[in-house]
Amino acid sequence: MPLTKELINDALSGVSHPEGGDLVSRNCILNIAICSTDASVRICYTQGNPDQKQPDRNTLSNMGKFIEQLIRATAKSEGVENLGLIIDFVDHAGQVVLKLKSDTPQNKDHAKPTEQPPQGTPQNSAAAGVPGVKHIIAVGAGKGGVGKSTVAINLAIGLARKGHAVGVLDGDIYGPSLPTMLGLGALDQAVIESTLQPFLVHGIKSITMGKLVDPEKPLIWRGPMAHGAFHQLIERTQWGELDYLIVDLPPGTGDVPLTLAQSVKLTGAVIVCTPQKVAQDDAVRASKMFESLGVDVLGVVENMSYFIGDDGKEYDIFGKGGAQKMAQRLALPFLGSIPINTALRQNMDNGNPPKNFDPKTAGGNQLPAALEQLTDQLIAQVTLASMNKNNQAPTLSIS
Ligand code: ADP
Repeated sequence: MPLTKELINDALSGVSHPEGGDLVSRNCILNIAICSTDASVRICYTQGNPDQKQPDRNTLSNMGKFIEQLIRATAKSEGVENLGLIIDFVDHAGQVVLKLKSDTPQNKDHAKPTEQPPQGTPQNSAAAGVPGVKHIIAVGAGKGGVGKSTVAINLAIGLARKGHAVGVLDGDIYGPSLPTMLGLGALDQAVIESTLQPFLVHGIKSITMGKLVDPEKPLIWRGPMAHGAFHQLIERTQWGELDYLIVDLPPGTGDVPLTLAQSVKLTGAVIVCTPQKVAQDDAVRASKMFESLGVDVLGVVENMSYFIGDDGKEYDIFGKGGAQKMAQRLALPFLGSIPINTALRQNMDNGNPPKNFDPKTAGGNQLPAALEQLTDQLIAQVTLASMNKNNQAPTLSIS
């Protein structure tokens, strides 16, 4: 029998918690990931009790060694001799307090504590994925209002229309637009045994902060708080098996989008931009942010590219092609452009994005064709990015 998450979970239920009970019964195990002979475990001792004091580094290190022994014994009994193991102890905000790592088969010593890089250091490749999810794609923008959420949702619908299992995570915690754009208004967030159940509408799964907070109250987040909330959304959601999880990031390149982009292992990022020079400048900054995190930019989307009037003429309002030129300048793939389209705005306001794919409800064939092309380009870029990654030295990937 192969080593499984369940077996590791069973082993961890044998580790007592300083406040009583064990790590599993106190929901301290946030994540377990396994890929052949590699495993990673994410543990939060203060889970559900932020007032509880974190054990000091020494105590955590000793606990880590004990946990490591248990996991290794379990692995050995399943025939896995040289387990690559990462144990992350995190605080209630999701920040790593101590990382124990013995990740090469040659290194048969106990997992050793590694120094944490200072905040802001690129570490996306070291971030954990989401079990069962093949590709996580962040959609970001240098500026708000350029159509980032619109693109994220339409890409998700486009992928689902091609038969993929798709989820969307509304990480735009300042102004979640998913409830409106997917028409989640009357639906309540279902929680089963402290796991969030994603909404299933229009053939895609979705989860949003907008359904967990009071829509009338402004959301004020600082980096660590946002990081914690984002992690809860990702890790506490029962996504099931997904081909693609599209994450709609908050706009900009500030603290919050940066921490969020860092905190989950991404296949890559899509940057949404309007053609104007000011939007391009911000998109360049967004692309640099992803680059500094070691995240592949899968491509640039030019939104609100041009407008087609009732007279059938094309009106170049913002300077069509500006984002495409910017992509070329930065040697980034260009995924395509979306025109300004009244039907698109209405369909999004009415929470019915699949209508954007039907010429009868999309103001003609132009928008559906543009969205189909975007989706195809994205799939092609994901395939390329995965091939490039597979050619590199093997790293821990999440099953
Ligand atoms: P962001 O996520 O960048 O803040 P949104 O996706 O929320 O932007 O879009 C802002 C508004 O612009 C929404 O009302 C949306 O329906 C509208 N919009 C976005 N793209 C287009 C477009 N190509 N044509 C018409 N309206 C659009």
